[in-house]
Order: sequence, then structure tokens, then C-alpha cells
Amino acid sequence: MKKVPHATIPPSRAPAIDALIVRNPDQSTEGADPRVVPIADLNAAGHFPEPILKVIREKCLDCCAGAASEVRKCTAVKCALWPYRMRKNPFARAPGRGAHFRRSRPETP
Ligand code: SF4
Repeated sequence: MKKVPHATIPPSRAPAIDALIVRNPDQSTEGADPRVVPIADLNAAGHFPEPILKVIREKCLDCCAGAASEVRKCTAVKCALWPYRMRKNPFARAPGRGAHFRRSRPETP
């Protein structure tokens, strides 16, 4: 199984990463809301603006222990990321893609 390098967290970033974890009085923890975390704090923890398809691909590689071949063969077709796991938007290949996307979405009940 070929390993593909993906997001790793250097130890030097540990304090910045810790700053993104909220510690509650009852000792439980939760991730901070990224919508309100200062950009500088996100950057310090190693998060930077990325194309969303690249982000999805990195998550899929993480899900498959870095094995690109396993991402390609993923059978979890109900996963919301599944159509995008090859770093392509399959809905973007259709002619008149905007109209195609709108037509192909199921009606909301
Ligand atoms: S599409 Fe497959 S590889 Fe990607 S996150 Fe979902 S289950 Fe994991």
C-alpha cells in the first residue's frame, strides 16, 4: 500500500492546535467554532485557505490511512464526500453544468 503524504501536525504547532479546543468546566472538550476563530489562530494551527476539492481529497486520504488506491476504491457511496474523492467535481463535467446540477437534485420534501 503506497502511502501518500497528507496533513501532519508538527509538534511545534501543538499549542496553537490546543488553542482551537475548548475545555469545558465539566472536563469535556469541543472544537472551537471556526466561523469565529481569528484567521491568525487558524493559520498558527496549520489551517490555510485551500480549494475545497483538495480539502476533500485530503480528508479521504486521512480516512484511508494515506492510501490513494483505497480512496479510489472506496465503497462508502453514501458518504457525502464520495463523489468528490478523486479531487474532481463530477457534476461540473456536464454541458450546461449549472442547469444539470439543478435538475439532478432531488426535490426537497
Ligand atoms: S468518500 Fe470514502 S474515503 Fe472519502 S471520507 Fe468518505 S468514506 Fe472516507
